[in-house]
Amino acid sequence: MVRKLEKPLRMKIRTGDTVEVISGKDKGRRGRVQRVFPRENRLIVEGVNLVWKHQKPRQFGQKGSKIQMPAPLFASKVMLVCPHCDQKTRVGRVRGQDGKLYRVCKKCNEMIDATK
Ligand SMILES: [Zn+2]
Repeated sequence: MVRKLEKPLRMKIRTGDTVEVISGKDKGRRGRVQRVFPRENRLIVEGVNLVWKHQKPRQFGQKGSKIQMPAPLFASKVMLVCPHCDQKTRVGRVRGQDGKLYRVCKKCNEMIDATK
């Protein structure tokens, strides 16, 4: 059971980021983040934590099928991969000239989010 939080967390990882798994059976595997669940501190990463889903036949004469799909995993099990230095890194925040907060790589100090 996953406890749902009252308030969504400010997560450092967002949809579309590339992350690397740092623990568990998929350790070392990289993938793109498909979905984040800030209230559960979990996320879905492409190709990571795959589970088989069994689908029952819906119509007469149709066979049931098994499909493989990624299941959510805890955000603390992954680290963000910096698009500049290609290393897994911690994330810092800086305020840009426009007053908005941007994420920065703690290793190379480059901004992870594109400044528009
Ligand atoms: Zn970097």
